[in-house]
Amino acid sequence: MSSHFDVLVIGAGPAGYVAAIRAAQLGLNVACIDEFLGKDGKPALGGTCLNVGCIPSKALLESTKQFHALTHSFKDHGISAGEPTMDVPTMVGRKDKIVKQLTGGIATLFKANKVKSFAGRGKLLSGKRVEIRFHDGATEVVSANHVILAAGSVPIQIPGIPFDGTHIVDNVGALDFTAVPRRFGVIGAGVIGLEMGSVWRRLGSEVTILEALPDFLAACDADISRVAAREYKKQGLDIKLGCKVTAAKVNGDEVQISYTDAVGTEHQLTVDKLLVSVGRRAYTQGLLAEDSGVTLNSRGQIEVDEHCRTSLEGVWAIGDCVRGPMLAHKGSEEGIAVAELIAGKAGHVNLDTVPWVIYTEPEIAWVGKTEKELKDAGIPVRTGSFPFAAIGRAMAMNEAYGQVKVIAHAETDRVLGVHMVGPMVSELIAECVVAMEFQASSEDLARICHAHPTLSEAVHEAALGVDKRAIHRAN
Ligand code: FAD
Ligand code: NAD
Repeated sequence: MSSHFDVLVIGAGPAGYVAAIRAAQLGLNVACIDEFLGKDGKPALGGTCLNVGCIPSKALLESTKQFHALTHSFKDHGISAGEPTMDVPTMVGRKDKIVKQLTGGIATLFKANKVKSFAGRGKLLSGKRVEIRFHDGATEVVSANHVILAAGSVPIQIPGIPFDGTHIVDNVGALDFTAVPRRFGVIGAGVIGLEMGSVWRRLGSEVTILEALPDFLAACDADISRVAAREYKKQGLDIKLGCKVTAAKVNGDEVQISYTDAVGTEHQLTVDKLLVSVGRRAYTQGLLAEDSGVTLNSRGQIEVDEHCRTSLEGVWAIGDCVRGPMLAHKGSEEGIAVAELIAGKAGHVNLDTVPWVIYTEPEIAWVGKTEKELKDAGIPVRTGSFPFAAIGRAMAMNEAYGQVKVIAHAETDRVLGVHMVGPMVSELIAECVVAMEFQASSEDLARICHAHPTLSEAVHEAALGVDKRAIHRAN
């Protein structure tokens, strides 16, 4: 007997599971289909983010940050201990435990909200029917008034350099090494390359990152990427820009890479592990029957309007499989908005205020436009910056590096972008997202009382700096 639901979600990543829970909260009869299997071979909800993305990478970043502090900065505090060692299987085991706890938590939330969970692969057929292929090969067709496609994304492979899961890996492999690779190569100096490069560099790997573009972290404000590049260099991350990788071959227990540098000179590089992190693409393979009625755009993403409506009435798409930044929180907000629209409420996501965070040391965070983007668009701006070197709390933490930069419209003073590099900026950015959502001016930020001594004083001072009236530096 086939089942019918108010809402059927395909994909239980941060976009899909949040949409399912919100729809259930609104009184709708909801089911969610997900095919992901965890390391133990059992269904695991939470998608890329919880299983092999945001959470496990942050767990390893935290472990290695602690190790690095022990080996590098504890002595500045007068703390000494014996020769520190890192037990990689214990570190990876701690990461796995966190993943299991969180993915299990989604299953509990589904039960609590009466979301029916199907473990298998979903395919959208015509007439808002969905075929579920269970892991044992059995199939069932269900139907719904509304279908939400939240199939996420997969890593892009470079032609001729296939992942083998052991020596040439994607994000999944790079999270599960059993020992520290002596030489770690990365293709792509983007978010994954920098985060995973940092993890293994802190444990002693020689890390070489080969980036195709001539500019480093081109999406960031130039003042921020300049500081970050300097700090990464100090840490020993060898980032080579303007490189074209021409081949990578596994030879015994090594990977031999051929590449040409920015001036066209050919080079060879031998590493023990190679991570390919050159971006991700929407995962739509096998998701849509030919007559499903849903169309893709030229980038292979599911085509949607500003409310995540696809070309077919009653079918919606959210998260990494549609346009916009590939970020967990962006997908979750779309999930909430779509559930609310289905329930007849007003759902909306402002893609202009989605914050970005890179969890390296120093952390990088931003919201809104860069100074270059605004200038290129002919928008007059005033900027204010403030260094963490002049912030007492940052000094007390032994992390007095980096800066906050506030960009405001030169005439209206409206905040158009805030860019940060430094300690805990992943947390500081939230205030700036609120400010931009409320269309605050830099003066609004400047007139808000910030606790002392905190890192947030750097935001306050940078906002004061827009009007050349920062207190703790010469303007
Ligand atoms: P996904 O999380 O990819 O979930 C999609 C789910 O759908 C998966 O479980 C998949 O198996 C399932 N699925 C797909 N097709 C089908 C089908 N036909 N039938 C059934 N199930 C299907 N973002 C951040 O915001 N912060 C971070 O710190 C961060 N760190 C990251 C670190 C790494 C290493 C990686 C790889 C990504 C990171 N991201 C981060 C990005 C983030 O993981 C994604 O933006 C987010 O997971 C997208 O959510 P989603 O729900 O759209 O898709
Ligand atoms: P990315 O887009 O961040 O970076 C890919 C990099 O690879 C770019 O700098 C690009 O110029 C470069 N590149 C592309 N082709 C290349 C080639 N052939 N040779 C050398 N370099 C090449 O992609 P990613 O690092 O794979 O991460 C994918 C996405 O996952 C991110 O864009 C982000 O949306 C998400 N993510 C977010 C976080 C976070 O929020 N902290 C962490 C990890 C991943």
